[in-house]
Amino acid sequence: MARDYYEVLGVARSASGDEIKSAYRKLAREHHPDRNPDSRDESARLMAEINQAYGTLSDSDKRAQYDRFGADGPGAGGGVDFGAGGFSGLNDIFDVFLGGVAASGQRERQNARRGADLRFDLELSLEDAWSGVSRELQVPTLLRCEPCDGSGAAPGTKPETCSACSGTGRLRQVRQTFFGQFVQEAPCARCGGTGRLIPTPCSTCRGEGRIRGTRDVRVQVPAGIDDGDRLRVPGAGEDAPDSKPGSAPGDLYCFVTLQEHAQFARDSETALCLLPITFPQAALGDTLRVPTLERDESGETMFTDVLIPAGTQGGARFRVVGKGFSGRGGSRGDQICVTRVVVPKNLSDRQKELLRDFAEESQEQLDEHPRGFFDRLKDAIRGD
Ligand code: ZN
Repeated sequence: MARDYYEVLGVARSASGDEIKSAYRKLAREHHPDRNPDSRDESARLMAEINQAYGTLSDSDKRAQYDRFGADGPGAGGGVDFGAGGFSGLNDIFDVFLGGVAASGQRERQNARRGADLRFDLELSLEDAWSGVSRELQVPTLLRCEPCDGSGAAPGTKPETCSACSGTGRLRQVRQTFFGQFVQEAPCARCGGTGRLIPTPCSTCRGEGRIRGTRDVRVQVPAGIDDGDRLRVPGAGEDAPDSKPGSAPGDLYCFVTLQEHAQFARDSETALCLLPITFPQAALGDTLRVPTLERDESGETMFTDVLIPAGTQGGARFRVVGKGFSGRGGSRGDQICVTRVVVPKNLSDRQKELLRDFAEESQEQLDEHPRGFFDRLKDAIRGD
């Protein structure tokens, strides 16, 4: 007799849709057969149970039906497809993590199984994001076992067709109920939904058909890529779990983050550049050699000249046209330099003398014996 669906997901009968969903995700992660190589069959059976329970409880109509009539009620079971058997769990989670960008249609390809999609976190400098960059990634993944060519059977032997499900990987159960006859389909527990049994497992992969390894993947990062962007590299995910015709590797998704930069920040297509200037430069004006995010062929920073007029204040903005980030349309934004006046520290006696003279010339009163900070703060608060 099937277990109660609420019991399978470990939720109360009053659980909300969100509670059911998060319980399902947690269980799917825990019991995914790929994560439980020592007990694949048991995991596949559990996953089938979990998927079935979730398939019903996540749908408010089916759930209401189930609450009234149980698993064998009208509309339950027969004709309802609960997804790709025990193996859809992790893919569903990736769909969620990827915000829906993962390839759909995995359910349609349940016979020719597809390798899992992978996530790779790719950290780039602002300079790399500015110019675009080609990167060689070493991605930890599951690779097709070469000695057995992914079949899992020792070289010279072949996998056998599972006799329990006749190689379909699925079992149909016909149930007679009060409401009539219902057909329910579930993954075959004997072969874990693969349709095949391996009498002599390959010694390299222990019958899994895949081994842990590293795949070298070259990624071409386009100029203008931004923090939070994702790059999809088709076919660079895990190899398919079997070597059936039509099986294909999953995809690799690179999640891009941009590193902090000491002098630059990014605002959409604008490159914001902090430009420290001295007091004399601010007061008298100057032509400054300002870095850009562009690099020459040897990777050295390229500079541009920015003219600072006399009397420039802190926080003034100077635009360098065309040195910002590439936009979607191919045009480039600008670099905007924001000045910051640096107040000198550790003055020499001569410098102090000159500044006092300067202040006197400007008819400013300098308080040579300043009161404490808090006295001045209180004055400021009182409005004196
Ligand atoms: Zn092998």
